[in-house]
Amino acid sequence: MKISIILIIIFLLGCQTIPYKNIEGEKWNIQYKDKDYVQAILVDKLLIENYYAIPNIFDVKFENNIKVKIYPNIEDFSIASNTYKLGKPRNNNSGKAMGESTILVCSTTSHNSYNVAIHEYVHLVIKSFAGSPGYTSWIDESICYYLSKQIPKSIKYVKEKSKENNYFKTFEQNDYYIQALYYIGEYLFENYSVKEITKLLKYRSVKRALNVEEDVFFRSWCTWIENKEIPT
Ligand SMILES: [Zn+2]
Repeated sequence: MKISIILIIIFLLGCQTIPYKNIEGEKWNIQYKDKDYVQAILVDKLLIENYYAIPNIFDVKFENNIKVKIYPNIEDFSIASNTYKLGKPRNNNSGKAMGESTILVCSTTSHNSYNVAIHEYVHLVIKSFAGSPGYTSWIDESICYYLSKQIPKSIKYVKEKSKENNYFKTFEQNDYYIQALYYIGEYLFENYSVKEITKLLKYRSVKRALNVEEDVFFRSWCTWIENKEIPT
């Protein structure tokens, strides 16, 4: 009898889930579990810096109240991603933007990955004025990587690899592609006006928005990255 009561208590304790805590920002709410407090605080700091700054770059107004949920592990993150039909997460350093105002990220120990929440925020801002492409577009991704400052590990690697991968149309989740996107974003902001970039996001075609053929665009980008100095 005693043993069965103990077993029931253990079972009930196991069923109890640790609740999410909240950080209330000016226009955002961050949900996190206790162990991810440091990450939640840093996401809050990044939102303070970027919430108005990102829409200002595009000269648009974005004042949606957003919700950021930090899932405690890749399993919970994958289940949520699957439930909301957002596709399988690449790893626990990836995030998802949903609807007009929801951001899903995962607990991570990589400080660089805290910028993922801002990457997803840029997606929400872009969506508010340019709609969603309905697929993973290199145009949207390059701008999200660049504006959220997800600076790649090695520019040298991108420089070398760009010689063999100078043209891509569809989203590929390989290492080169992910790292090249940041520099494509930088190239866009260095060479085109915000007005042209906004047009590019609306049309999602370099031919229509920038009046340049896609292969010519990528060749120019390759020349640009080849000539870019490696920081010492
Ligand atoms: Zn993205």
